Amino acid sequence: MENFICVQCGTQFDATAEPPPRCLICEDERQFVHYGGQQWTTLERLAADHHNRYEDEAPQLLGISTEPEFAIGQRALLLQSPGGNLLWDCISVLHERTIAEVKARGGIRAIAISHPHFYSSIVEWADHFDAQIFLHVADREWVMRKSPRIQFWEGTTFPLWDGLTLVNCGGHFDGGTVLHWPAGANVKGALLTGDIITVVQDRRYVSFMRSYPNLVPLGTAAIHRILETIEPFPFEQIYGGWWKANVLSDAKAAVTRSAQRYLRAITGTSADGPVR
Ligand SMILES: [Zn+2]
Ligand SMILES: [Zn+2]
Repeated sequence: MENFICVQCGTQFDATAEPPPRCLICEDERQFVHYGGQQWTTLERLAADHHNRYEDEAPQLLGISTEPEFAIGQRALLLQSPGGNLLWDCISVLHERTIAEVKARGGIRAIAISHPHFYSSIVEWADHFDAQIFLHVADREWVMRKSPRIQFWEGTTFPLWDGLTLVNCGGHFDGGTVLHWPAGANVKGALLTGDIITVVQDRRYVSFMRSYPNLVPLGTAAIHRILETIEPFPFEQIYGGWWKANVLSDAKAAVTRSAQRYLRAITGTSADGPVR
């Protein structure tokens, strides 16, 4: 029996004797099955020719990604906090060196994930670090490897420890979640967003999509919901889902002006006109 991993999205599945017939996450319109066909690998095979890279994105915020790039290519963030470390988002590859690097920084108390594209091998990580996993219940159907460590949370916000709060913005996925880190950005606050609020090439802006690979935008109501759910939280910075995909100053205003630009684009209103 083997916990197979989808090569295109990096998701690890429940143990089976043969690779699963299909990957539901990739068949969904928000991802894609490679034109060459569905492919599978295993943690062992991946570890043979991939290694992980570790780099601080900010004080107390260690980025971890896989090289050469694998699947969606995100980097996870180990948020180091006095009450315990939180692994925000996750990657598929986990081996001894990574375990040692993370343990040297105090291990992992819990793992929280922005959305199913980054579920990767969360159960593998949680088992190694004896950690809990927090996922929003609205995305329950996308969990491909079950575990009693997974706790599904409901509603708009879910408080963790040290003021950390999970916030359900929806959008890209119904359970789409961002993390508010009040101690981040020198106590001005930071949001960790994955691609629920995605940092774009111009680092003064972010964007929002239903499907990134297939370029399907979100509608007006979804954009307003994202703005409303993050409104109560002060934040100066945003850490997105990839290396250096960060808005490092005035991030809350960046979200507002990005949402206004987006709404103008999808509703066909002029730059000077009112945005509804
Ligand atoms: Zn997949
Ligand atoms: Zn995604």
